[in-house]
Amino acid sequence: MLQLAVGRVQLTLLDDGSFPFPARYFFANVPPDVWQREVPTDATGKIDVGHNYALLRCAGDLILLDTGYGDDTHGGRTGHLLEELHRSGYRREQVTAVVNTHAHGDHTSRNTLAANRRHVATFPNARYYLGRADWERFSGPDGKIHHFDQNLRSLADAGRLTLVDGALQLAPDVTLLPTPGHTPGHMSVVIESLGAMAIYLGDVCHHPLHFSHPGWVSCFDTDPDLTPRTRDWLFRMALEHDALLVCPHAAAPGLGRLRRLAGGFAWVPVTAE
Ligand SMILES: [Zn+2]
Repeated sequence: MLQLAVGRVQLTLLDDGSFPFPARYFFANVPPDVWQREVPTDATGKIDVGHNYALLRCAGDLILLDTGYGDDTHGGRTGHLLEELHRSGYRREQVTAVVNTHAHGDHTSRNTLAANRRHVATFPNARYYLGRADWERFSGPDGKIHHFDQNLRSLADAGRLTLVDGALQLAPDVTLLPTPGHTPGHMSVVIESLGAMAIYLGDVCHHPLHFSHPGWVSCFDTDPDLTPRTRDWLFRMALEHDALLVCPHAAAPGLGRLRRLAGGFAWVPVTAE
């Protein structure tokens, strides 16, 4: 758990946990001998993947960005978001908005809690937000999202889910921006306050090497040709504003900045501001 200020917005990083995952999935369009030169793996080809989500306190709003793995704990390694929230000094009843950057289970599984054989909102006073294109893509029988019904459909049925089209100003200093590629309705979250900017990227990038190799994409991207184009304009915006970045799947706390190098970019981790 790390807390810092972005202008008048308090940003808290919540560590849902990490576990070893096959690295090759993140570099699906790259020959193995090329990415292996830059990514040290364990003997089974795995790397430790972080799951860092965020909480924004701004004026009267308490906005949670993604909700983690929930009951999918990978042997106790993940699903720690609520403990982290508590450690940061907040209760789940205080959350006023939950943004799901996209519909995948590592970002939505603590949206709900099981109660009396049904799933109810974990954050009982919050409105939930999801890109409409993700709903349209994944809510049908071919959606192939683990636990979609309990994580998202239950909220829609309860009238708590708002589907987002285009950009949406969620609070005075907080805007949701469409950043498609990883999924069709993927959104990133821009915090802009008193001249400072931070961008919660969601899964625009999964690994720090995606910053230095914007053409390298994961096998989970629904439109792998679009991902590099989204990165291109988003990286330019980040550089122009010297934005602090949150890359949820980077090593904890998932914070960094983009630096321009000769011929490209690099991810520079930030451990504290
Ligand atoms: Zn993810």
